[in-house]
Amino acid sequence: PVTAHAVLSARGLTRRFGGFLAVNNVDIDVYQGEIHALIGPNGAGKTTVFNLLTKFLQPTSGRISLMRQDITATPADRVARMGLVRSFQISAVFPHLTVLDNVRVALQRPNGLAHQFWRPMSALDQLTGKAEGLLATVGLTRERDALAADLSYGRKRVLEIATTLALDPKVLLLDEPLAGMGQEDIATIAGLIRNVARTRAVLMVEHNLSVVADICDRVTVLQRGEILAAGDYETVSRDPQVRTAYMGR
Ligand code: ADP
Repeated sequence: PVTAHAVLSARGLTRRFGGFLAVNNVDIDVYQGEIHALIGPNGAGKTTVFNLLTKFLQPTSGRISLMRQDITATPADRVARMGLVRSFQISAVFPHLTVLDNVRVALQRPNGLAHQFWRPMSALDQLTGKAEGLLATVGLTRERDALAADLSYGRKRVLEIATTLALDPKVLLLDEPLAGMGQEDIATIAGLIRNVARTRAVLMVEHNLSVVADICDRVTVLQRGEILAAGDYETVSRDPQVRTAYMGR
Protein backbone atom coordinates (compact mmCIF):
# COMPACT_ATOMS: atom_id res chain seq x y z
CA PRO A 1 0.00 0.00 0.00
CA VAL A 2 1.03 3.60 -0.63
CA THR A 3 1.66 5.27 2.71
CA ALA A 4 3.81 8.25 1.69
CA HIS A 5 1.01 10.81 1.94
CA ALA A 6 -1.02 9.34 4.77
CA VAL A 7 -1.26 11.91 7.55
CA LEU A 8 -2.07 9.21 10.07
CA SER A 9 -1.00 5.65 9.55
CA ALA A 10 -1.03 2.45 11.61
CA ARG A 11 0.55 -0.90 10.81
CA GLY A 12 -0.14 -4.16 12.59
CA LEU A 13 -1.94 -2.35 15.39
CA THR A 14 -2.69 -4.88 18.12
CA ARG A 15 -4.03 -4.60 21.66
CA ARG A 16 -4.64 -7.35 24.17
CA PHE A 17 -6.61 -7.08 27.39
CA GLY A 18 -5.29 -10.10 29.30
CA GLY A 19 -5.85 -13.01 26.95
CA PHE A 20 -8.43 -11.13 24.87
CA LEU A 21 -7.40 -9.64 21.53
CA ALA A 22 -9.49 -6.47 21.28
CA VAL A 23 -7.60 -5.17 18.21
CA ASN A 24 -5.69 -7.57 16.00
CA ASN A 25 -3.21 -6.57 13.32
CA VAL A 26 -5.06 -3.52 12.03
CA ASP A 27 -3.60 -1.40 9.22
CA ILE A 28 -5.18 1.98 8.58
CA ASP A 29 -4.22 5.07 6.56
CA VAL A 30 -5.94 8.42 6.79
CA TYR A 31 -5.16 10.94 4.07
CA GLN A 32 -5.20 14.71 3.91
CA GLY A 33 -8.54 15.96 2.57
CA GLU A 34 -10.28 12.67 3.30
CA ILE A 35 -13.11 11.55 5.55
CA HIS A 36 -12.47 7.99 6.60
CA ALA A 37 -15.16 6.05 8.45
CA LEU A 38 -14.44 3.32 10.96
CA ILE A 39 -17.51 1.14 11.25
CA GLY A 40 -18.43 -2.25 12.66
CA PRO A 41 -20.78 -3.95 15.10
CA ASN A 42 -20.65 -3.19 18.84
CA GLY A 43 -17.55 -4.65 20.45
CA ALA A 44 -15.67 -4.67 17.12
CA GLY A 45 -12.82 -2.61 18.58
CA LYS A 46 -13.53 0.85 17.16
CA THR A 47 -13.15 2.70 20.47
CA THR A 48 -10.00 0.76 21.27
CA VAL A 49 -8.52 1.75 17.88
CA PHE A 50 -9.30 5.42 18.66
CA ASN A 51 -7.71 5.02 22.10
CA LEU A 52 -4.60 3.48 20.52
CA LEU A 53 -4.27 6.14 17.81
CA THR A 54 -4.60 9.00 20.31
CA LYS A 55 -2.20 7.17 22.68
CA PHE A 56 -4.77 6.91 25.45
CA LEU A 57 -3.82 3.24 25.29
CA GLN A 58 -0.44 1.78 24.44
CA PRO A 59 -0.53 -0.86 21.67
CA THR A 60 0.62 -4.39 22.54
CA SER A 61 2.35 -4.35 19.15
CA GLY A 62 2.30 -2.42 15.90
CA ARG A 63 3.39 1.06 14.84
CA ILE A 64 1.62 4.38 14.45
CA SER A 65 2.86 7.42 12.57
CA LEU A 66 1.52 10.96 12.40
CA MET A 67 2.77 13.16 9.56
CA ARG A 68 5.52 10.59 8.99
CA GLN A 69 6.78 10.79 12.55
CA ASP A 70 6.66 7.60 14.57
CA ILE A 71 4.37 8.25 17.55
CA THR A 72 4.18 4.67 18.84
CA ALA A 73 5.89 5.69 22.07
CA THR A 74 4.78 9.35 22.18
CA PRO A 75 2.61 10.45 25.12
CA ALA A 76 -1.02 11.44 24.44
CA ASP A 77 -0.60 15.13 25.28
CA ARG A 78 2.27 15.48 22.81
CA VAL A 79 0.35 13.67 20.12
CA ALA A 80 -2.51 16.14 20.66
CA ARG A 81 -0.10 19.07 20.38
CA MET A 82 1.23 17.57 17.13
CA GLY A 83 -2.28 17.94 15.73
CA LEU A 84 -4.13 14.68 16.37
CA VAL A 85 -7.30 15.82 18.14
CA ARG A 86 -10.23 13.71 19.27
CA SER A 87 -13.58 15.39 19.56
CA PHE A 88 -14.48 14.30 23.07
CA GLN A 89 -11.23 15.64 24.49
CA ILE A 90 -12.61 19.12 24.04
CA SER A 91 -16.31 18.38 24.17
CA ALA A 92 -16.47 20.33 27.41
CA VAL A 93 -18.79 23.09 26.27
CA PHE A 94 -19.22 25.44 29.24
CA PRO A 95 -22.99 25.96 29.53
CA HIS A 96 -22.73 29.21 31.53
CA LEU A 97 -20.42 30.85 28.98
CA THR A 98 -21.48 32.45 25.73
CA VAL A 99 -20.76 30.80 22.40
CA LEU A 100 -18.00 33.33 21.72
CA ASP A 101 -16.39 32.81 25.14
CA ASN A 102 -16.43 29.05 24.70
CA VAL A 103 -14.34 29.46 21.57
CA ARG A 104 -12.06 32.05 23.20
CA VAL A 105 -11.41 29.61 26.06
CA ALA A 106 -10.64 26.82 23.60
CA LEU A 107 -8.19 29.04 21.71
CA GLN A 108 -6.24 29.52 24.94
CA ARG A 109 -5.90 25.83 25.77
CA PRO A 110 -2.32 24.50 25.86
CA ASN A 111 -2.45 23.43 22.22
CA GLY A 112 -4.91 26.13 21.17
CA LEU A 113 -4.31 28.58 18.36
CA ALA A 114 -3.86 31.53 20.75
CA HIS A 115 -0.33 30.31 21.39
CA GLN A 116 0.49 30.91 17.75
CA PHE A 117 -0.44 34.61 17.94
CA TRP A 118 2.00 37.45 18.13
CA ARG A 119 1.10 38.43 21.71
CA PRO A 120 2.32 41.89 22.79
CA MET A 121 -0.43 44.04 21.28
CA SER A 122 -4.15 43.68 21.79
CA ALA A 123 -4.07 39.98 22.59
CA LEU A 124 -7.77 40.06 23.45
CA ASP A 125 -8.69 41.61 20.09
CA GLN A 126 -6.71 38.96 18.27
CA LEU A 127 -8.43 36.29 20.35
CA THR A 128 -11.86 37.73 19.62
CA GLY A 129 -11.12 38.09 15.93
CA LYS A 130 -9.92 34.52 15.68
CA ALA A 131 -12.93 33.26 17.65
CA GLU A 132 -15.34 35.17 15.41
CA GLY A 133 -13.59 33.71 12.37
CA LEU A 134 -14.15 30.20 13.72
CA LEU A 135 -17.81 30.95 14.47
CA ALA A 136 -18.24 32.14 10.90
CA THR A 137 -16.55 28.97 9.61
CA VAL A 138 -19.05 26.75 11.40
CA GLY A 139 -22.06 29.06 10.89
CA LEU A 140 -22.59 30.13 14.50
CA THR A 141 -22.23 33.89 14.04
CA ARG A 142 -25.87 34.60 14.89
CA GLU A 143 -25.56 32.72 18.19
CA ARG A 144 -22.30 34.52 19.15
CA ASP A 145 -23.68 36.03 22.39
CA ALA A 146 -26.08 33.26 23.35
CA LEU A 147 -25.31 31.13 26.37
CA ALA A 148 -24.15 27.67 25.33
CA ALA A 149 -26.82 26.25 27.65
CA ASP A 150 -29.53 27.84 25.50
CA LEU A 151 -28.39 26.18 22.26
CA SER A 152 -30.23 23.20 20.82
CA TYR A 153 -28.44 19.84 20.97
CA GLY A 154 -27.43 20.12 17.32
CA ARG A 155 -26.05 23.66 17.69
CA LYS A 156 -24.08 22.55 20.77
CA ARG A 157 -22.43 19.88 18.66
CA VAL A 158 -21.56 22.57 16.10
CA LEU A 159 -20.03 24.63 18.92
CA GLU A 160 -18.01 21.58 19.94
CA ILE A 161 -16.63 21.39 16.43
CA ALA A 162 -15.68 25.08 16.61
CA THR A 163 -13.82 24.50 19.88
CA THR A 164 -12.08 21.50 18.29
CA LEU A 165 -10.97 23.63 15.36
CA ALA A 166 -9.53 26.12 17.87
CA LEU A 167 -6.88 23.49 18.56
CA ASP A 168 -5.75 23.61 14.91
CA PRO A 169 -6.04 19.86 14.29
CA LYS A 170 -4.29 18.20 11.36
CA VAL A 171 -6.21 15.00 12.00
CA LEU A 172 -9.62 15.03 13.62
CA LEU A 173 -11.02 11.90 15.26
CA LEU A 174 -14.78 12.13 15.67
CA ASP A 175 -16.76 9.76 17.87
CA GLU A 176 -20.25 9.37 16.43
CA PRO A 177 -20.59 13.06 15.58
CA LEU A 178 -24.17 12.59 14.36
CA ALA A 179 -25.51 10.48 17.21
CA GLY A 180 -28.87 11.62 18.53
CA MET A 181 -29.48 14.24 15.85
CA GLY A 182 -32.48 15.05 13.72
CA GLN A 183 -32.32 15.08 9.90
CA GLU A 184 -31.74 18.83 9.65
CA ASP A 185 -28.82 18.86 12.09
CA ILE A 186 -27.37 15.79 10.38
CA ALA A 187 -27.29 17.64 7.07
CA THR A 188 -25.66 20.71 8.65
CA ILE A 189 -23.01 18.79 10.58
CA ALA A 190 -22.28 16.45 7.67
CA GLY A 191 -21.66 19.50 5.47
CA LEU A 192 -19.49 21.04 8.15
CA ILE A 193 -17.38 17.89 8.53
CA ARG A 194 -16.99 17.79 4.74
CA ASN A 195 -15.72 21.39 4.84
CA VAL A 196 -13.39 20.79 7.75
CA ALA A 197 -11.89 17.78 5.96
CA ARG A 198 -10.88 19.82 2.93
CA THR A 199 -7.72 21.02 4.67
CA ARG A 200 -7.37 18.26 7.24
CA ALA A 201 -7.92 14.55 7.66
CA VAL A 202 -10.95 13.14 9.44
CA LEU A 203 -11.40 9.67 10.91
CA MET A 204 -14.86 9.05 12.32
CA VAL A 205 -16.77 6.29 14.03
CA GLU A 206 -20.33 6.49 12.77
CA HIS A 207 -23.30 4.15 12.93
CA ASN A 208 -25.47 6.07 10.48
CA LEU A 209 -24.54 4.26 7.27
CA SER A 210 -26.44 6.56 4.95
CA VAL A 211 -24.29 9.45 6.23
CA VAL A 212 -21.19 7.31 5.83
CA ALA A 213 -22.26 6.59 2.25
CA ASP A 214 -22.86 10.31 1.64
CA ILE A 215 -19.79 11.97 3.07
CA CYS A 216 -17.03 9.42 3.62
CA ASP A 217 -14.34 8.81 1.02
CA ARG A 218 -13.21 5.53 2.48
CA VAL A 219 -14.48 3.00 4.98
CA THR A 220 -12.73 0.49 7.19
CA VAL A 221 -14.95 -2.23 8.65
CA LEU A 222 -13.88 -3.89 11.87
CA GLN A 223 -15.23 -7.12 13.27
CA ARG A 224 -13.92 -8.82 16.41
CA GLY A 225 -10.85 -6.61 16.36
CA GLU A 226 -9.88 -7.41 12.79
CA ILE A 227 -10.34 -5.63 9.48
CA LEU A 228 -13.19 -7.27 7.61
CA ALA A 229 -13.09 -4.94 4.61
CA ALA A 230 -11.67 -1.57 3.56
CA GLY A 231 -12.18 0.66 0.56
CA ASP A 232 -14.78 3.00 -0.87
CA TYR A 233 -18.32 2.63 0.50
CA GLU A 234 -19.75 1.15 -2.71
CA THR A 235 -17.24 -1.70 -2.76
CA VAL A 236 -17.33 -2.32 0.97
CA SER A 237 -21.13 -2.35 1.18
CA ARG A 238 -21.31 -5.01 -1.55
CA ASP A 239 -18.87 -7.28 0.28
CA PRO A 240 -20.76 -10.46 1.32
CA GLN A 241 -18.85 -10.67 4.62
CA VAL A 242 -19.83 -7.11 5.48
CA ARG A 243 -23.46 -7.84 4.62
CA THR A 244 -23.43 -10.87 6.89
CA ALA A 245 -21.81 -8.94 9.75
CA TYR A 246 -24.47 -6.22 9.52
CA MET A 247 -27.41 -8.56 9.11
CA GLY A 248 -26.26 -10.33 12.25
CA ARG A 249 -26.86 -7.20 14.32
P1 ADP B 1 -16.51 -0.83 19.87
O1 ADP B 1 -16.07 0.58 20.12
O2 ADP B 1 -16.35 -1.23 18.44
O3 ADP B 1 -17.90 -1.10 20.36
P2 ADP B 1 -14.52 -1.50 21.88
O4 ADP B 1 -13.22 -1.05 21.32
O5 ADP B 1 -15.17 -0.65 22.90
O6 ADP B 1 -15.54 -1.81 20.68
O7 ADP B 1 -14.35 -2.94 22.53
C1 ADP B 1 -13.76 -4.02 21.81
C2 ADP B 1 -13.66 -5.20 22.76
O8 ADP B 1 -12.63 -4.97 23.71
C3 ADP B 1 -14.94 -5.46 23.55
O9 ADP B 1 -15.14 -6.85 23.61
C4 ADP B 1 -14.63 -4.88 24.90
O10 ADP B 1 -15.33 -5.56 25.91
C5 ADP B 1 -13.14 -5.09 25.02
N1 ADP B 1 -12.50 -4.08 25.86
C6 ADP B 1 -12.45 -2.76 25.59
N2 ADP B 1 -11.76 -2.10 26.55
C7 ADP B 1 -11.39 -3.04 27.47
C8 ADP B 1 -10.65 -3.01 28.71
N3 ADP B 1 -10.16 -1.87 29.18
N4 ADP B 1 -10.46 -4.17 29.34
C9 ADP B 1 -10.96 -5.33 28.85
N5 ADP B 1 -11.65 -5.44 27.71
C10 ADP B 1 -11.86 -4.31 27.01
